Amino acid sequence: MQPVLGIDFGTTNTSAAWFDASGKLRVVQVTDKSAVLPSVVWFPSADASKCLVGQAAKTQLVDDAKHTLFGTKRFLGRRFESEYVAAHKGRFAFDLVEGSDGYTAALIYGQMIPLVDVASIVIKDIVARATRTAGHPFTECVMTVPAHASVRQRDAVRRAAQQAGMTVRAMVNEPTAAALFYANLRSPQQTVLIFDLGGGTFDATVLRVENRVVKVLATGGDAFLGGADFDERLADSFASHLENTVGVSVRENRTVMQRLALAAEYAKVQLSRQEAVEVRVPVVAQRDDGGFIDLKLTLSRAELDGVVTPLVERCVSACDDVLARAKLTAADIDELVLVGGQTRMPLVRTRLSHFSRLSSEKDVHPELGVAVGAAILGRNLSRTKSSGLSDVVAMPISVMLPGGRSVEVIAPNTPVPCVKSIPLEGLPTWSNPVPLLLFESLDQTAVDREIIGSVHISEEWRTTPNLTPSLELTVGQDFALSARLVAPGGMQTQLQIVDYRR
Ligand code: AMP
Repeated sequence: MQPVLGIDFGTTNTSAAWFDASGKLRVVQVTDKSAVLPSVVWFPSADASKCLVGQAAKTQLVDDAKHTLFGTKRFLGRRFESEYVAAHKGRFAFDLVEGSDGYTAALIYGQMIPLVDVASIVIKDIVARATRTAGHPFTECVMTVPAHASVRQRDAVRRAAQQAGMTVRAMVNEPTAAALFYANLRSPQQTVLIFDLGGGTFDATVLRVENRVVKVLATGGDAFLGGADFDERLADSFASHLENTVGVSVRENRTVMQRLALAAEYAKVQLSRQEAVEVRVPVVAQRDDGGFIDLKLTLSRAELDGVVTPLVERCVSACDDVLARAKLTAADIDELVLVGGQTRMPLVRTRLSHFSRLSSEKDVHPELGVAVGAAILGRNLSRTKSSGLSDVVAMPISVMLPGGRSVEVIAPNTPVPCVKSIPLEGLPTWSNPVPLLLFESLDQTAVDREIIGSVHISEEWRTTPNLTPSLELTVGQDFALSARLVAPGGMQTQLQIVDYRR
């Protein structure tokens, strides 16, 4: 039987793992030294089939920033018109535009490339590497997604994997995958908090591990907070430094800001190992007399900590919220499991020292834990059909009724699979179909609602006397959402969830 490949397609890096026929865990080796593939795609020409992926593409971020896509997972499955895209698209040197479906796409050499295609290129690359390492092809995978991914974002990741030729056996929340990995390391009963701070998102998940079975108690976090925000804050402070020392503003220059963000990331990573670092970005501006201005400064770890402390505090308060929802305190947590590359920052560990035990990098690899967890899920599914986990819905799913009233149908932290319904009373009786809007509302820090789509209620269901239909929503184990109308006498109909366009 062919093994199922666990794929962690991340904002910054992608990795994959599987269990071979002898039951041995295998991790896809990307280079001699590294098992992570930078989620970066470079288009050297208008011929998209000639693109390069990974480290080779990453080196082009400075030389050909306009044609080198990175961090695009943050925009995947998001409408171009959303506030999130409006707020963040200007920070990249490449162009993001509205695709023909209303979702965000990249514009490369005047050609529109949907971000699902970009994701698919990265996934295809890691699958090809897995095939080379294993010596046999893979056709099935488990994909991981941030716990806060919306229905549309999950759908986009699923389609990207399918376009890469894979059948998606399951989608699993990244922190839950990390917990599966963890559960395999420690067999006794434990309550753990997974602190997952990657490149693009922060997820905090409390779970109970019992005999290698994982039960998610509560999940939360911040869909708009990741390592890239640390880089942006630091790049911003570099821009301020230039303003204060040489009186030039580079904030309007996207290419320079992107170079500052790259230098910021490099400096940030160095400062996890050393106390100070020299930052030098040549030619960030030109003086009136034609001379060039370089950014040159020495940055200490304490200075970096000062700049990013508010971000770390946001993580800590999101943890407090999740614990409160699970009716627990830090003292109830047996171990705080750190995953995601950004948790390598010393400040993160120091700030979490009120937890009695923090995982060590030797136990749970911050960058590979999620892919290995996905591989464990894949192995469980192919062996027994049972996943060995119970996951929960992170974001509530609500419906907006005619007149603008919103009703929550599926509460946050409801275990999946689940079926929930609400009665639809007093719907208008006019003859046109009545659309109801389905949406996910994000956590407190969210700026907008994620619109999933609309369902249309036909006249028959609204005008039949004494018939109060219920809207029934189902979320599957793979987080796929479906909708039905049901009535007491057994009458029912499946509803199509239509993509909502402005
Ligand atoms: P991941 O998505 O888990 O690969 O995490 C990627 C994020 O972790 C990026 O924002 C990186 O800059 C950050 N990161 C990786 N290594 C380190 C490190 N040693 N110190 C601080 N941040 C790091």
